[in-house]
Amino acid sequence: MPRLLHPPDQESSAEVSNRLKPLVGKPEGSLAIHEIYRSLQGESLYAGLPCVFIRLTACHLRCGYCDTPYAFNQGEFLTLDEVVSQALALGDPIVEVTGGEPLLQPEVYPLMARLADAGRTVLLETSGAIDVTAVDPRVHIILDVKTPGSGEVAANLDANLDRIKSTDEVKYVICDRADFDWSIAHVRQHHLDRRVAILISPVFGQVDPTELAAWTLETRLPLRLQLQLHKHLWDPKARGV
Ligand code: SF4
Repeated sequence: MPRLLHPPDQESSAEVSNRLKPLVGKPEGSLAIHEIYRSLQGESLYAGLPCVFIRLTACHLRCGYCDTPYAFNQGEFLTLDEVVSQALALGDPIVEVTGGEPLLQPEVYPLMARLADAGRTVLLETSGAIDVTAVDPRVHIILDVKTPGSGEVAANLDANLDRIKSTDEVKYVICDRADFDWSIAHVRQHHLDRRVAILISPVFGQVDPTELAAWTLETRLPLRLQLQLHKHLWDPKARGV
């Protein structure tokens, strides 16, 4: 079980800076890592394929549906070399860098480059609230646009929508019908349906996937309904799967 890098604080006006405290004291050239493990990729165009996950510690957001709050604080400091070697040792050709919000740590950029240099297909799952310009172009970005139901819609950096490649993907996690309608308007406003793959994913246990399937069909847009595979295969609260 990863140790606490910094104990969580009570809610306060300095909440956002508190959220970054797990990264305070991180040695230069190292990363705060919650866990490195292998499983099936479950939430992207690569869903169903074996994948190594590198889950980085800390997130500056607090989405209401977040299913990885343990990554907010728990983890350990590992050198870049240690992270690369542990990930490569697990052997799978796909490696996903996730979190938390992985782009909070500058060492994540050389990490992704080194994994790509080693011949891995590198996926990055990011909230979309941090500029993706510096991400290695070999990396497949999964941009998780925040809907109103997440509670973090104000954090969206729309400029990122112009920075992603046609081979990347944009994901909307849907909390309710209002979220779905907002997401469709967002897709149309930014012409995303002509530019990139779009994933629509229901909050597990909150939105009926069958109903969401009907909504997506009504739009006549090329939306891809995405269920969180690992939550159907394993205990929805299980970690490291
Ligand atoms: S951005 Fe991701 S890790 Fe951060 S709070 Fe939202 S769902 Fe959780």
